Amino acid sequence: MAKLKILKIGDSTLRKVCRPVDTVTPRIRTLLDDMIETMRAADGVGLAAPQVGVLRRVVVIETPDEGLIELINPKIIAFSGEQESEEGCLSIPGRWGTTKRPMHVTVRAMNRKGETFDITGSGLLAKAFCHEIDHLDGKLYTDIAIKMHDN
Ligand code: ZN
Repeated sequence: MAKLKILKIGDSTLRKVCRPVDTVTPRIRTLLDDMIETMRAADGVGLAAPQVGVLRRVVVIETPDEGLIELINPKIIAFSGEQESEEGCLSIPGRWGTTKRPMHVTVRAMNRKGETFDITGSGLLAKAFCHEIDHLDGKLYTDIAIKMHDN
């Protein structure tokens, strides 16, 4: 595994739309492993492939309650409720913002074996699903933040 460099806001790569993964190759599995190592080293809750300069639809998330979740080609297939909370991003260090996101989100994705699965998250996990999938479409939480603050 290798720790990758995390791109920061202002880098045009973060604004690009990522391509889907057709087949889960060893290269994609290595990307997942490297993204996990990078996310953990940065103490983050989630990381999307464009943040490490790879324009593919690949996401990793790790929360205290749900553990590690790997998502390939994730799509939101259902959502409900609303939460207003604090949000940060490894590509926007030292800043935080208040966002409105759904309280419950169901995602359909592929795992590293190429199998399709559905997963539902609430609260922090629902927010992470939205935040990371936005990255795959070149969107940052600062685009929708109601207010921003430092530290
Ligand atoms: Zn982010």
